[in-house]
Amino acid sequence: MEAPSGHPTSLKDKDVKDLVFLTPAEDIAKVRLHNFVVIPTKYRNDKGEEVDGTRFGTFLCRKDPAMREESGNTCPLCDDIGHEAAEKNVAVAVELNATREGKRVLSLEIATRDYKDKDENEHSVPRWGLVIQGPKNFFRPLIAQEQMSGVPLPETAFTVGRIGGDEKTTYAFVAIHAPLPDLSDVIEQVPTLEDVLEEMGSLEKYERELAEVKPGSQKSKYNSGTTSDAASPSASSEFNQTEFEALAQEVGAHKGDVEQY
Ligand SMILES: [Zn+2]
Repeated sequence: MEAPSGHPTSLKDKDVKDLVFLTPAEDIAKVRLHNFVVIPTKYRNDKGEEVDGTRFGTFLCRKDPAMREESGNTCPLCDDIGHEAAEKNVAVAVELNATREGKRVLSLEIATRDYKDKDENEHSVPRWGLVIQGPKNFFRPLIAQEQMSGVPLPETAFTVGRIGGDEKTTYAFVAIHAPLPDLSDVIEQVPTLEDVLEEMGSLEKYERELAEVKPGSQKSKYNSGTTSDAASPSASSEFNQTEFEALAQEVGAHKGDVEQY
């Protein structure tokens, strides 16, 4: 595995991103999620040596109502490893690049990530990610914004700003009035929320990624339990993209980094 990429992974205090949500407001999922599961991982350092490290994994709890029938209401993370699930809202979003004059947005383009495959062919893929947030400080104000404007969420670009970096974090949303770029190709390239969640809760993923995770290993400050808006480590520079890169490939998306916002 390669070293984690150095991209900022989430909104830090006073960070601003321009996004469009692909998930309609009524489809934004409310799920039991195991977020920031600490998984032992080997990385290559600058000298090319293999070193021990950790990464964060995200799993749909197998006791989530959508999974209960398949799992018999058992979950290795809840029952064996001892990681507490939290209730979160999840949506898929695509990042946009805005051209601004002062603060006014003149035009929007789809942000892309370029990479070379193993045969050195160059590819350019949309920069998409999952927005995983507690309902109170993020999705409630966002949906209120949609209801007041009368414009469906996937038809509006937003500048999203994070204010604060701890448990008092709030978010500000400003609708952008410049026209949206054509999203039809993006919608084909990015997996649906349903596909992403199915992968995140699959037994294959649990078995593949949790083989080295020991019971009692999750007593970090990030295992913050059931408080849905509790401080998360997403503002930490330790966090990396690997989880979501893997996810994007597994669910059949084109290769490229996927961000968690
Ligand atoms: Zn669970």
